[in-house]
Formats: sequence, structure tokens, C-alpha cells
Amino acid sequence: MPPPCKAWPNRFPLRKGFQQPGLAVEQMAAHIPGMDQKTPRDILAEQAHLPRFEYTLASDVPGIAVAQEPEGADEPRLMALNATLAEVLGFDAGALDETALAAFFSGAQLPDTVSPVALAYAGHQFGNFVPRLGDGRAHLLGEVVDVNGTRRDVQLKGSGRTVFSRGGDGRAAVGPVLREYIISEAMHALGIPTTRSLAAVATGERIFRERLLPGAVLTRVASSHLRTGSFQYFAARGDKPATKQLADHAIARHYPEIAGSENPYLELVRSVGRAQASLVAKWMHAGFVHGVMNTDNSSISGETIDYGPCAFMDRHSANTVFSSIDRQERYAYGNQPPIAQWNLARLAETLIPLIHDDPDKAVDMATDAVGEFASVYKAEWLSGMRSKLGLYSERDEDFKLATDLLATMEEGGADHTLTFRHLSDWLRGEREPLRSLFIDPTRLDSWAERWQARLLQEALVEDRADRMERTNPLYIPRNHKVEEALAAAEGGDMVPFEKIMAVLAKPYEAAVGFDDYATPPAGGADDYVTFCGT
Ligand code: AMP
Ligand code: MG
Repeated sequence: MPPPCKAWPNRFPLRKGFQQPGLAVEQMAAHIPGMDQKTPRDILAEQAHLPRFEYTLASDVPGIAVAQEPEGADEPRLMALNATLAEVLGFDAGALDETALAAFFSGAQLPDTVSPVALAYAGHQFGNFVPRLGDGRAHLLGEVVDVNGTRRDVQLKGSGRTVFSRGGDGRAAVGPVLREYIISEAMHALGIPTTRSLAAVATGERIFRERLLPGAVLTRVASSHLRTGSFQYFAARGDKPATKQLADHAIARHYPEIAGSENPYLELVRSVGRAQASLVAKWMHAGFVHGVMNTDNSSISGETIDYGPCAFMDRHSANTVFSSIDRQERYAYGNQPPIAQWNLARLAETLIPLIHDDPDKAVDMATDAVGEFASVYKAEWLSGMRSKLGLYSERDEDFKLATDLLATMEEGGADHTLTFRHLSDWLRGEREPLRSLFIDPTRLDSWAERWQARLLQEALVEDRADRMERTNPLYIPRNHKVEEALAAAEGGDMVPFEKIMAVLAKPYEAAVGFDDYATPPAGGADDYVTFCGT
């Protein structure tokens, strides 16, 4: 809690004469305790505590942003603050008390320097095109250039209705907000590109879903909120000038190296394809199922965005689906790479008029660019798998060795995360931790013989087992532990949330007393189902 007056000036410069008699008195009044009835808004207005908010997207692409005020909250209460991220962004969070932080991060009290907007976008949802989606429950507070010089969006999610809300209430519930907070920060700690979570505030209000739930607002930080759906919004209206403005903004912001290339819009398809291929390969390595890979949830920067029904799988299975609404299993674990490529094709379509004046030529060029996705993905996936298997050289047989392990895991009902983690134990001579994950380890044994033979073809790597543990996490957000933390938080107990956040911050290091965070639930969890939380 900061003192009511932070800096007491030892001089009050008085102006000569009476031309501006009020000035010195005003200055004094602002610093006299008691007279100093600062509201959270006043405290926030002291710019020193907040970064500078900018709006380059809104000025570069005039039709994309609509000024919208958050609806606020009656009794905002700070549930979580990411102090490290706040500092990187230039928030002086330590100088703000919890009331001021909750007021800001719920959108209830924003200083005049913040001009929130909702962004327009379209999107293919489960394959069906919707020409107008947009931020129906989110307010972009603005862009902040962080201490590293990177421009980042700061957005409130669950902060009330906007012009894009359609039938929705504009709100989010405590459970899904904290779920996104936990999983997005876990992804970051795992080294997977992702939007970040800066704050979570309970609004004190009840929102109606299937039942009444406590409401909350999440502050999400993204390198931008540009999606494939942002391009589709303008392309579907035939608005070539706006599509070009958007593409130019995206290039300047995310892929400046292609700005001067011969055909930057074609290069944009390639660059987004590479970023997405690399991202999805990392999801596959970690056993992550996004769950709702609609084009409006497909980020141009290549970050994981929109944590709705996502989850990490326990048992390795290509068919894994958690989302209750994904009935056709479109977004199953094993479908994620081709779906990302399908989404890339939708992005490429929006750029056709910019790629070449002759539409047939443009289509050919774009088709080739989209076609590169598969080989880039395969290379990214294989390179990550080599690290997971402790291979530091490249052999043709590595692809088969890696895919055979996955098939063995699938057949043996083995836990995805622990299989890779226990490979290190195997190398140290302890085989049972790995073998015990398989219903029948015979096939694993013969796979491991091939693996060992392959390792012998490499120069001896002294610390191979340790190195592998820096690639194969021990801790992922296990669904049952996440649910446990959410249930406690809904009842006002934040301790399990703090605990899971602490363990997930260092996913590669074994922590004493956290064994139960490393394993699937005792009885198995094959029927785990997630909901969008909308
Ligand atoms: P999502 O499934 O979260 O990617 O959201 C798809 C679309 O639905 C986006 O346009 C969201 O802004 C909108 N939406 C989701 N939940 C709500 C809500 N509670 N109120 C209004 N709009 C919503
Ligand atoms: Mg979305």
C-alpha cells in the first residue's frame, strides 16, 4: 500500500503576481494528506505508474478498431498479478495498491490516457465462414512497447459487451479466466510461443452460464491480436485497400525482414506458415490440444491464442479431443498440423489480390507457398523430436524411430509427458519408471534397443540424460490439478492456484513435495471434457 502521498515536494514554486493565483494552491492541495482524496483513477492517472498506451493498428488500419468502453465491475478484486510481466511492460505495480490494480485490470477505472477499442475480425468456425465475429467480450487497452523494445497488445477479456457481442453477455467466469492464466503461463515456461496473462480480477458479479458463476476479467498480453480472421474480415468485404493496410501493418510488426522483398504479401504467407508450423510442432511435442483452431483463433504472429477448451493429454493418443463442442473431432491432437495448414490456405486466399494482378498466377503462387507448410512442419517436428530423444546428429532413420515410439505409446496406453521424461532414467540404468507406463512393455523394449543402437552411433554425450530433461518437462498443467485449483479459487481459496503456478513456472526441474503434479490422476482421466467457457 503506497502512502497517500509519495513525493512531498520541498518547494512550492509560487508565481509572481495574481495572473494565475490558483496554481500554487492546487499544487499544495494535491499533496496535503487528508485533502488528498485520491481515487484509484487519480492514482492511475499518475502516468509514472503505467506504461504509455499507443494505437498504431487503429491508425494504420482505420476500419479495424471501434472505440468501446469496458462495462466495469462493482467490486473488482485482484486474484492474480504477473509481477514479472508487469515490470517488463513498464507497469510500476509496486506503487499501486490492490484496489487501484483491480480497478484498472477490470476496466472499471481507466485513466484518460487509455482509449480502449474492440477489434473486428471474421473467421471460419469449425469450417464454416462467419463474416463478422470481432471482440465480443474483449477490450484492447492499447499497445505498449516493453522494456525490450517489443510492441505488445494489452487486452481485457470478459470486460463487457461491445458492438461485436451478438447474443453474448460480454463476460467471462472465474474458472475459464484462471484456466487461461494457468495454461498460458505454463506454455510460456515450456518455451512455447503464447499470449501471456498479466492479471486476473474477480468482478464480484455473477454471470449466467449453465448456472450462476462468479465473473472475472483476464488481462491478456499478445505480440498482437491479429488473426487469420482479421484478414478474412476485410477480404470478405472485397476491401483490398484495408487488406493491404492490414498486411503492411502485420509485416512491419511481425516480419519486418520481408518488407523489402520482391513480393512481401507472398512472403507473408510463407512467414506466417513457418511461424505456425513451428508452433504446432511444439504443441505436438508437449501433447497440447488447442481444441478450437478456428481461423479467428489463429494468430498471425505464431503465438498460441485463445485458451478455451484446450488441454494437455495424459495418455498419448492421436485422436485425443477434450472439447465438448468438437463432436466431429476436427481439432483432435493428431489433426492439428493439417488444420494449421488449412487455416494458412484461408490466410493466403485473402492476400490473392495483393500477390499478383493476374488472379490465376496469384493462386498458383499462393498455393505453392501454402504447400511449403508440410515440409517446414515436418522438419520442425523432427528436430524437436531428436532433442526429446537425446539425438544430436541427424540420420534418415530418425523419423521412423520417433514415429514408432509414438505408435508404441499409443498402443501401450503410455503417458505422453512421462514417457519422454523417463527416457533419461532409462539412460541412467533405471528402466522400470518408463516400462511401468506401458500396459505391455515388450514393444517398448524392442523400440528401446533400436534407440540405444542409434545413440551408439553418436559421439558420447556426457550429460545426455540431463540435457534431455531440459527438453522433456516433468510438469505440465495436469487437467485434474488445474481443475482442483479452479474449484478452490471459485470458493475464494487461491492457495492451490499459487501452488500450481509455482510448479509450472519451472516445468523441467523436479520440485520436492510436488510429486502429485507430475502424474496423471490415479484412476486415469480418459473422459476429461472441456468447455469453451463462453
Ligand atoms: P471464441 O470461441 O472464444 O474464440 O469466441 C468466438 C467469438 O465469440 C468471438 O467473436 C468472441 O468475442 C465471441 N464471444 C465469446 N464469448 C462471448 C461472450 N460471453 N459474449 C460476447 N461475445 C462472446
Ligand atoms: Mg477466439
